[in-house]
Amino acid sequence: MKNLIDIKDLSIQEIEELIKVAQDIIKNKKKYSKKCNGKKLATLFFEPSTRTRLSFEAAMMELGGNVLGFSSASSSSTSKGESVSDTIRTVGCYADIIAMRHPKEGAPLVASIKSTVPIINAGDGGHNHPTQTLTDLLTIKCEKNRLDNLTIGLCGDLKFGRTVHSLITAMTKYKNIKFVLISPEELKVPEYIKKEVLEKNNIIWCETTDLEEYMQDLDILYMTRVQRERFNDEKEYLKLKDCYILTKNKLKKAKEDLCIMHPLPRVNEISKQVDDDKRACYFKQVEYGKYIRMALIMKLLNEQNDNNIDELKREKEEKIFDSIKCQNPRCITSENDDLEPIFILTDKEKQIYRCKYCETILKK
Ligand SMILES: [Zn+2]
Repeated sequence: MKNLIDIKDLSIQEIEELIKVAQDIIKNKKKYSKKCNGKKLATLFFEPSTRTRLSFEAAMMELGGNVLGFSSASSSSTSKGESVSDTIRTVGCYADIIAMRHPKEGAPLVASIKSTVPIINAGDGGHNHPTQTLTDLLTIKCEKNRLDNLTIGLCGDLKFGRTVHSLITAMTKYKNIKFVLISPEELKVPEYIKKEVLEKNNIIWCETTDLEEYMQDLDILYMTRVQRERFNDEKEYLKLKDCYILTKNKLKKAKEDLCIMHPLPRVNEISKQVDDDKRACYFKQVEYGKYIRMALIMKLLNEQNDNNIDELKREKEEKIFDSIKCQNPRCITSENDDLEPIFILTDKEKQIYRCKYCETILKK
């Protein structure tokens, strides 16, 4: 593995290996404090996200490495019109590894094609955020001591919430996982996730609008924030933003060893009175995020000379259409005119193609 762009790039063995290393780091911090001596991590944040950036920087520092970078597009050359590819090639001359966040879907993939050093996707718009998923998996593993036999409640924005979609996809690889999907009608899990992920893997799941209905059955309760930037309509956002607020009272029927998670930042989804409850794991989750990023940085730096079998495999299914463009306005191809539109044939019979960058289905 040379880059981490999508959580699907990782096999279940690779995920387990990362979790194992992260758990070892937690136990023996000293052993790892010089692992990246002399190495530099660049954090290129074309869209601000202080938490994620600090997590990457803290991870590299704890490995004995150094960090450089920028925290928003306005403070980089992009504001002067520089393309992502040029920025990446320039930074690759200074840094050994790059963590990149970008508002356009597929931008880190474009970067990884041009880059001479490993790229980690630290979030591309509403599309992928693989290190959040790894953080979630490590949190579950450490708090529950297992990744199978779990009933997981996901609550809030299940429509736009990418962390939720990635977590569902990742957890279906484990045995006896059940999902309770808690959301208002307007923010339900998209149909394609139900069909292509849940039903395809014979997962038991149910939907409800009531946060308390299945509380007693849950091993994990994953709360999410309704994010303003995902809505085109401000009114719709205001109507839905406080749809669920977890309080002590709502936890009355919950299991003693329930694990409450949240990707943070929280707004109103979890009442502050819950913070003292021993089942609240969301601040520990932040710390787990640093450890899994340490494991990932080490893995990518160690493996960067391996050949890219995965990428060769992918090339086969790809097709370039000169006349067709991706229809997703948030796709990186909409910003970058000289970028070749590439589509992957996902269904031969029905002639369905998917954009290589943002994964939007092409309707012909
Ligand atoms: Zn696209």
